[in-house]
Amino acid sequence: MLHVNENYSKIQASYLFTEIAHRVAAHQSANPDAKIIRLGIGDVTEPLCDAVVKAMHKAVDDEATRKDFHGYGPEQGYAFLREKAAKVDFQDRGIDIAADEIFVSDGAKCDCGNIQELFGNDVKIAVGDPVYPVYVDTNVMAGRTGANDGGRYSGLVYLTCDASNGFVPGPELAEGADIVYLCYPNNPTGAVATKEQLQKWVDWANANKSLILFDAAYEAFIRTPGIPHSIYECEGARSCAIEFRSYSKTAGFTGVRCGYTVVPKGLVAYAKDGSPVELRPMWTRRQTTKFNGASYITQRGAEAIYSPEGQAQTKATIDFYLENGRLMKEALSALGYDVTGGGNSPYLWVNVKGDSWEFFDKLLKKANVVTTPGAGFGRAGEGYIRISSFNSRENVLEAVERLRNVL
Ligand SMILES: *Cc1c(COP(=O)(O)O)cnc(C)c1O
Repeated sequence: MLHVNENYSKIQASYLFTEIAHRVAAHQSANPDAKIIRLGIGDVTEPLCDAVVKAMHKAVDDEATRKDFHGYGPEQGYAFLREKAAKVDFQDRGIDIAADEIFVSDGAKCDCGNIQELFGNDVKIAVGDPVYPVYVDTNVMAGRTGANDGGRYSGLVYLTCDASNGFVPGPELAEGADIVYLCYPNNPTGAVATKEQLQKWVDWANANKSLILFDAAYEAFIRTPGIPHSIYECEGARSCAIEFRSYSKTAGFTGVRCGYTVVPKGLVAYAKDGSPVELRPMWTRRQTTKFNGASYITQRGAEAIYSPEGQAQTKATIDFYLENGRLMKEALSALGYDVTGGGNSPYLWVNVKGDSWEFFDKLLKKANVVTTPGAGFGRAGEGYIRISSFNSRENVLEAVERLRNVL
């Protein structure tokens, strides 16, 4: 008989975005004239910058000539992109990462999910609560958890992120974990971790032979000097951390699809007999076997982000989103709400002083504004909503006005 992977049946139906869509649709059909503003989205709204578009057009022209045509590229990515990423994202900031430790991909979501193939099925996984669901669901699919009970899977270690720890849990909560997923600036809370806080995680991981999977998808939003853009700013991180980067939020590549993963030389996990096994050759093997590279056109577009024009243009777009966030945070704070995030992140995490879904409904029905109920990201998200800065200025100003009238 053909059996399915039973682990899939453990996955809690991702009811969050379905439920939001359902409630928004019901509200719209009852109020056909309502101009609904969506502040729930985790997708960018501004178009690609000029430097990227020009580079991609040129790459299309390359593909049209016999001389510059590119078929299959290197599975790990073209050297032109790996070298620029290593230099600009790391070496220019004094961080020791080389081009051959960078593995270009079609985005960080896939890499966050695929990386766990390298590890045994008995490893203990720690995740934040609230959390980006990809870290959890991929491990559920792989059979690393038991059933879901009351919103949490047995077998996972949950790191509660709440006001008591400033939404940055420390390693004392991760006892027994072999792998911990960290994401800063965080989705959904928008919180950032200081170098001291990340150094504690690195020291813990090295002492326990554990691994940090560091998701830096939002690093380009960091504006406060001293906040680490990379886990490798911490001493000793090369021997205990893999880092995921994405051009999605950095440069509006959510539809283009490109990112990369850093796997340092010398980083190891252990065989059953305790002998160290290097992860970089394993990831090379995995990628060359199951992945055929991001497209040439896409990688030329990503390369252009590193040109002086590309750097200035992408920064301007992120500044635009950050200003959206600042306007909303200022308004909510003035209305008496505690808001985490913004400033160094596109997300605001608002303490609604009550039930997430009730607050969501109130904003939807009275202000025609869509947010994301925090409870959808985990048990510890109850009592919060996430507001995204990815929108037009016009919509943000209108939303602020409506929030002032309703709250
Ligand atoms: C958006 C996002 C990513 C990026 O995913 P891509 O596949 O590169 O688009 C990664 N991690 C988090 C937490 C995100 O919110």
